[in-house]
Amino acid sequence: MEQAVQVLSQTFGYSEFRAGQAEVIEQVLAHRDVLVLMPTGGGKSLCYQIPALVLPGLSIVVSPLISLMKDQVDALNAYGVSAAYVNSNLNSEQLVSVFRGMQEGRYKLIYVAPERLMKMDFIERLQHLDISLIAVDEAHCVSHWGHDFRKDYRLLGQLKAQFPHVPMLGLTATADLATRADIAQQLNLQQPFVFKGSFDRPNIRYNQITKYKATDQVIQFVKQQDGSGIIYCNSRKKVDELALALARQGVNCAGYHAGLEGNIRDLIQRDFIQDRIDIIVATVAFGMGIDKSNVRFVVHFDLPRSIESYYQEIGRAGRDGMPAEALLLYDEKDAVRIRQWIASGENVERNEVELQKFTAIEAFGEAQTCRRQILLNYFAEYSAGQCQNCDICLDPPKAFDGTLDAQKVLSCVLRLQQQVGSQYLIDVLRGKQLKRIFELQHEQLSTFGIGKAQSDAYWHNIINQLIHRGLLRVDITQHAVLKLTEEARPVLRQTQTVQLAVPRLTIDLGKKKRVS
Ligand code: ADP
Ligand code: ZN
Repeated sequence: MEQAVQVLSQTFGYSEFRAGQAEVIEQVLAHRDVLVLMPTGGGKSLCYQIPALVLPGLSIVVSPLISLMKDQVDALNAYGVSAAYVNSNLNSEQLVSVFRGMQEGRYKLIYVAPERLMKMDFIERLQHLDISLIAVDEAHCVSHWGHDFRKDYRLLGQLKAQFPHVPMLGLTATADLATRADIAQQLNLQQPFVFKGSFDRPNIRYNQITKYKATDQVIQFVKQQDGSGIIYCNSRKKVDELALALARQGVNCAGYHAGLEGNIRDLIQRDFIQDRIDIIVATVAFGMGIDKSNVRFVVHFDLPRSIESYYQEIGRAGRDGMPAEALLLYDEKDAVRIRQWIASGENVERNEVELQKFTAIEAFGEAQTCRRQILLNYFAEYSAGQCQNCDICLDPPKAFDGTLDAQKVLSCVLRLQQQVGSQYLIDVLRGKQLKRIFELQHEQLSTFGIGKAQSDAYWHNIINQLIHRGLLRVDITQHAVLKLTEEARPVLRQTQTVQLAVPRLTIDLGKKKRVS
């Protein structure tokens, strides 16, 4: 351990270990397998880089991020550490040179892409060398229970058998209990020492708003912000549309998704990192391994599929420790659709796990209590008390007697024969003079115009709450038509009251306006 402290200060120039680093390094030096769960920016790299320098032989680092390998190796070289990488970007001449260097013991660390590592010739080469340790970065990629599962990562499970005496390290920033166990199992870690750092990111403020006219909401939000941001959408089409809408508002932004040419994606990424583009509108294809410290906000235009992916995506904000915002646009009907979609998957066991994960993120979105607490609890980091840095803590939901509103909505659903979606329902409630309403003679219904006093967004929110309360359900087999449930009857018969939360309709974060 003495040597480790020396390397920390002499090679890397740091005076102290961060939380967990010393414990992890100690275990690796004692030849024990280790699983490291630390949030992004927590300092995972030193957990294997320092042992690599202390131990006598060569250390292998498996990383899926080909685009970052060169940067990491360059950074190590700058510290005076001899390291190299092996991936598909090398030409055969470079490859030969690296292989020769490995043979001659010239390197302390080799970064390698999993697909390259698992080729027979590479494994054979390694078997003739003195291997000190194998580190698997982004280890959640071995787990089926995540979104990032990679086929090549699955093969890594064979490494343990091939190098039974070499300590193996799995490192990840995403780890709920299920994924955690899965990583250890898939990598065949032998009674691993598990270190789990705190996943709290106190400088990120969590905000949720009921999704309604989402493009307008995002425009409004973005105009309240300064600095860089990422907006995640769940389809390429939405990315393109939203990027266009923002650009029309004079926002300096770009769309990013897997449908773009590789070199264009690289260019956009570079422009974003170097502050030439303020905002990236992207699918989840964007961001893995992006090292940009001054991202000030992350918006989710659509509901993610799990708390893990949500946490990972919002974790790209505020790495510099300065205040940052996370905004989730939440729509109950999106949730119903995603739920249906997950349930229709072929693998029943897997659907089950995905549904559980989805239920957790849904609960986060619908929460009426501190959102940070929900998030941390999910990562088995139990915290009491209120964070004072989420929308719920800062502006607690106010309950009101929503019986009358509920009756208006439910009776209107009934009058419309349970055959319409929420927007048309709102149009009737608010008594809009629309051609379709007159054609169907719905202006003659007793419920026409009874909700005139409130806005579309207000009713949208109330409908969401009624779905959430189980008084209404969305029939997605039928164009998301709203149906009454059994629970709605006593409310309609006026034998039961309904407590609702006062709808939160605008996003006002009290921030300075973006100057455009
Ligand atoms: P992760 O891989 O967990 O996202 P990194 O290993 O990239 O995080 O570390 C994040 C940043 O913290 C890097 O800039 C790194 O140099 C710095 N860092 C890591 N350990 C220490 C330490 N003990 N003291 C000071 N800075 C550190
Ligand atoms: Zn809170």
